[in-house]
Amino acid sequence: MSVISNHMPTAELQALDAAHHMHPFTSNEALANKGARVITRADGVYLTDSDGNRILDGMAGLWCVNIGYGRTEMADAAARQMKELPYYNTFFMTTHVPAIALAQEVAKLAPADMNQIFFASSGSEANDTNIRLVRTYWAQKGKPGKSHIISRKNAYHGSSVGSGSLGGMTYMHEQGGMPIPGIHHINQPDWWSEGGDMTPEEFGVACAKELEAKILELGEDKVAAFIAEPVQGAGGVIVPPETYWPEIQRICDEYEILLIADEVICGFGRLGAWFGSEVMGIKPHIMTIAKGLSSGYQPIGGSIVCDEVAEVIGQTEFNHGYTYSGHPVAAAVALENLRIMQEENLIEHVRTAAAPALKAGLETLADHPLVGEVSIKGMMASLALTPHKDSRAKFASERGTIGTICRDRAFANNLVMRHVGDRMVVSPPLIIQQEDIDALVERAGKALDEAYSEVKSKGLLKAAS
Ligand SMILES: *Cc1c(COP(=O)(O)O)cnc(C)c1O
Repeated sequence: MSVISNHMPTAELQALDAAHHMHPFTSNEALANKGARVITRADGVYLTDSDGNRILDGMAGLWCVNIGYGRTEMADAAARQMKELPYYNTFFMTTHVPAIALAQEVAKLAPADMNQIFFASSGSEANDTNIRLVRTYWAQKGKPGKSHIISRKNAYHGSSVGSGSLGGMTYMHEQGGMPIPGIHHINQPDWWSEGGDMTPEEFGVACAKELEAKILELGEDKVAAFIAEPVQGAGGVIVPPETYWPEIQRICDEYEILLIADEVICGFGRLGAWFGSEVMGIKPHIMTIAKGLSSGYQPIGGSIVCDEVAEVIGQTEFNHGYTYSGHPVAAAVALENLRIMQEENLIEHVRTAAAPALKAGLETLADHPLVGEVSIKGMMASLALTPHKDSRAKFASERGTIGTICRDRAFANNLVMRHVGDRMVVSPPLIIQQEDIDALVERAGKALDEAYSEVKSKGLLKAAS
């Protein structure tokens, strides 16, 4: 076997990568021309690439490396478990200690009436599980027709056929026959982009009432569940107006619709609590978890299920599961992650130090001529770019053009800041300290300045008509 190592020249690694590796959410032709950025190691909140650059990871990987990189305790937990029991399944009346221990720990952290966890290896898988859970629940209750699920446009719930259908990304739906039947999408509560002349409060209620209208259109006896992220992440960090969630909760209660909170990003500390539902005042029946559950050190996800739903499902054999449901190494690593989070009081750090510092820092960028809105909740934030602040105008250029320019300028300044369309997104590791928050804000400011010059010089500072 040929040995490929960190010591090979970047160009050689890029050529091999382009020759054999199909990347997610990427045009591989474009990638082959440009060459992938090769990340070789990471420590704390910093990545190192194959050219020796030290890059501040403002995205915690993909919103997941909550405890930061390079934690040897996590490696030790994995090694210990691999030596003791590298794999066994949890099908057919068997179990093992890591799965038992992790399920108990997650149940302890979850709201009091949520005590059962169904494990998966990712958020996508967990949301596929959720589709089957809610439909099976209503079938068990003698209402098999109550099978439709309502979600939102621009939501992200994963990339499998089921979870991608729950998601509201039209550019995903255009490929491969999604959404599957029985899934419906209402508008998202994105006041800045879509609120028109309404106040945010009016708009929040109006968006929530779309759920009621959709339930009435489909028929209450046809709707199984509503799924939403407490704060939309991949959609661009859309923080709903304060009026939104209370009205959604009222509607779900009134029409007996199960509420699924997709906590894959919001869960495990990102909003300054164990779950985003606590922060947003929601009482879900099911919560989807992944990402921060293991800080990304191992692939693991799951569904936390409330007692009532778990009891009804438990009355039948649930014909569903994954080879790696509750995988012992992933479970042991997730357990170690939760131990570290608790021992280091990470939730407290987010609530009292990191989130207020990030907010104060990013709000200094609100005056920048390119920035229309600074949207922030806990440790997730976005800057909406605009050619004209007062009218909340969009750019005349194709969506994402300005965001891409700004993203590239951030990279050039050794900051990972992702763009979603023309919003710049920040979601750093939760362990980040003041000094690195200052560096993050300074680099983001530089990226904005350089993007502004480039946008002006290219004649792109034009509002859509
Ligand atoms: C990332 C994400 C998912 C999908 O998780 P994967 O582990 O990538 O399958 C689902 N829901 C939300 C809210 C996410 O951010």
